[in-house]
Amino acid sequence: MLTIDTDYHVHSEFSFCATDITLERIFQLGDGLYLAVTDHSAHQYFRPGRGWSLAREDVVDLVEEQRDYGRENLERYIAMIRALGRPEILVGLEVDILPTGDLVFEEDLREEFDVLIGSVHHLPSYVQGRSPAEIVAEWQTRVCQFCDQGMDILGHPFRIFAQYGLPVSDGLIAWTVERCTAAGVALEINSHQPSPQDDVRLIRCAREQGARLAIATDAHATWEFGEFSYHRQVLAAAGVESQEEWERLNWRAVPHLDFGASAP
Ligand SMILES: [Zn+2]
Ligand SMILES: [Zn+2]
Repeated sequence: MLTIDTDYHVHSEFSFCATDITLERIFQLGDGLYLAVTDHSAHQYFRPGRGWSLAREDVVDLVEEQRDYGRENLERYIAMIRALGRPEILVGLEVDILPTGDLVFEEDLREEFDVLIGSVHHLPSYVQGRSPAEIVAEWQTRVCQFCDQGMDILGHPFRIFAQYGLPVSDGLIAWTVERCTAAGVALEINSHQPSPQDDVRLIRCAREQGARLAIATDAHATWEFGEFSYHRQVLAAAGVESQEEWERLNWRAVPHLDFGASAP
């Protein structure tokens, strides 16, 4: 059985969609794991109850209006994760992107973060009833914008297509692996809303292209935390059987702050 000891996508009370998982629970249960807390960036800007305002037509203005509020939340968030005092729990963020291609983020806080995940959660072209080809093209634009704006990981790469009921072609998987690898961006194997058919093809393609894969439970609840059976299952189905190969594929974060502890 493969040893998996990284999870660079975990939510906490700083995401509206998280249930019973909190920074305190992550601290209690996370012994032996290399982790990043990665709450939704957009949630820091929108007041409670407006968490998914990302789909609103006026979202660009809304983020701008909430700039100070978001910044305060982000600063509090960073401070609370650092205050846990465990070097294996990194400060991360699941960064949202606006229809303009701008990140929902504070650029001057970038150095405070160890792990940045770029995730597509909404595509206006789908809501507008555009063709599948146009929806895929918009998604590819967002992926390029994430790659060009220094993300470490592409979050749940193809989840949005499953949500929209659209198939993911082998060609799109190959394009994604190539684009991300060229930019030094790892691709996530995410178990929160599993899509084994897509993930097995993604892993096979990553093996061929020498890409890096990031393990993500994307835990929104305590029961999901530290649960890697899905990852082992899709890795085995894609032919990754030896620990040695897994170590070559597995993306590991380099913490920005030195706590004086040894890195994994
Ligand atoms: Zn997400
Ligand atoms: Zn997430």
